[in-house]
Amino acid sequence: MKNYSSTDVAAFQDVWVFCEQRQGEMTPTTYELISEGRKLADELGVKLCGLLLGSQVEGLVKDLGAYGADQVYLCEDPELKDYTTDAYTKVIADCVEAFRPEILLFGASNIGRDLAPRCAARLHTGLCADCTHLDVDVPKYVQFLREASTLDVDAQKWDLEDRNLKMTRPAFGGHLMATIICPRFRPAMATVRPGVMKKAARNESMATRVELIRPTFQLFAADLRTKVREIVKETRKLVDLTGADVVVSVGRGISKDVEGGIKLAEELAGVLGGVVGGSRAAIDSGWLSADHQVGQTGKTVHPKIYIALGISGAIQHKAGMQDSENIIAVNKSATAPIFEIADFGICGDLFQVVPLMIQSFREEQEKK
Ligand code: FAD
Repeated sequence: MKNYSSTDVAAFQDVWVFCEQRQGEMTPTTYELISEGRKLADELGVKLCGLLLGSQVEGLVKDLGAYGADQVYLCEDPELKDYTTDAYTKVIADCVEAFRPEILLFGASNIGRDLAPRCAARLHTGLCADCTHLDVDVPKYVQFLREASTLDVDAQKWDLEDRNLKMTRPAFGGHLMATIICPRFRPAMATVRPGVMKKAARNESMATRVELIRPTFQLFAADLRTKVREIVKETRKLVDLTGADVVVSVGRGISKDVEGGIKLAEELAGVLGGVVGGSRAAIDSGWLSADHQVGQTGKTVHPKIYIALGISGAIQHKAGMQDSENIIAVNKSATAPIFEIADFGICGDLFQVVPLMIQSFREEQEKK
């Protein structure tokens, strides 16, 4: 596009969220991002806009409004019905060039992780992947650092006018957190891990106020190098870790009787109406499938109750569960780091402790 330059920072405004739908259904992460984007837009004093691509998906627009979008840019075309990297990249790049948002957020889903870097390269801007925290407001960011880091924030000079998106993510294998900014290019782009941002409450009055915009875009045959012939859903049901109220996770501590350990975890999860998760050690050993993994390279969960059985509490595991409302840890080593963040810690052999827990929860339930 003529006159478009990603370095013309002042020409960009508004916060955009790529709204990921699959077969006409919005992904839960989209609502989390819309809720987070609302806060960023308010702090910047700009509009929050959803960018929705698909075919016959207008019905989703009101929902995006209900979670905070002021406007939704809707791009509908049969070629956009199913996700393809080339078609989606073309349309998103066209829209960004035409309307110039200053921030563009994607969920760090398989689609977001594929699409966002392609768009960033096409638009010649920066992308920070897998963010776990976002800020624009400087005092809020300083407060976040004060609570979450060992930095001497008061010893530093802060530019209170700084409008850059401060994108924080784990670095060096999760051993430290890095905040990244993209000061010279726009839009500032980020992918955000599913389950990290909190979904706001639905607001029906906002749903009716959302403005629908249909940008013009063109898709030529030359833009489309891939064609989706069929979508085959996996027959195995994946575990819904991020939506569960109770997660019972197992780690290498079950190694002396893997089958028995998983059975105990399933039984405990069953009594509490929860699901089974695992540490990376349990997944890498092939004891559970990858969709069960909790942690930096797995899922981020914040259930009401998180029970860690035979999990040491490595920093990468904690990164995915430390915001759970109540953490119960069972570990035979009193010095296991998991006890540092546990609300309730039981030091003992899980094969002895868990049957007692199951029995005691059952008795409590029977009393009720
Ligand atoms: P261990 O650290 O081996 O701990 C086993 C624990 O079980 C010990 O504390 C032991 O005392 C206890 N135990 C043994 N027997 C019993 C028993 N009978 N009863 C009770 N307790 C018992 N890890 C993740 O979990 N998720 C991630 O997403 C993740 N991402 C990573 C990303 C990177 C880049 C890297 C480098 C690592 C990542 N890891 C991740 C791996 C992480 O560093 C740890 O290696 C892993 O979490 C350890 O798993 P664990 O606690 O099950 O095993």
